[in-house]
Amino acid sequence: MKDNQRLESVNKMILKLEGNEEVKEILSNLMLHIENMTDEIQELKEKLQDTLEYAEFLEQDMDNIKEEIFGEEIVPSQEDDEEFIYVEVKCSKCGENIYVEDDLMKEHLHCPNCDNKLF
Ligand SMILES: [Zn+2]
Repeated sequence: MKDNQRLESVNKMILKLEGNEEVKEILSNLMLHIENMTDEIQELKEKLQDTLEYAEFLEQDMDNIKEEIFGEEIVPSQEDDEEFIYVEVKCSKCGENIYVEDDLMKEHLHCPNCDNKLF
C-alpha cells in the first residue's frame, strides 16, 4: 500500500529529527491521527463499493419486478395513444359492414353503399 509506505517514511523522518522532544511528540501524534484517518477512508471506500454493488442488484431486481407487473414494454408508445378505435356497424337496409371511428358514432352517418341513415 503506497499510502502506508509514505506514512512509514514520514514516521522515520520524525524519529530521526534532532532537537525539541515536544515537537517530535506533537508530530508523532499527528501522524497517528493521519494513519487512523487513512484506515477509516480505506474502510469507507470498501463499504461504498459494497453499497454501490448492492444498489446495482436492487436496480436489476426493480427492473425485473417492473417487467413482471407492466410487461416487457415499460414505456408506453405514443402510437397507442393516437390509434383510432373503429367500430363495426352493419347497415340495417343493405347489410353492408361499415367501419366507423369511435368518435364519429355520435354524428349522423349514412351508409356509403345505399345511403341509409345509420344513426
Ligand atoms: Zn346500406
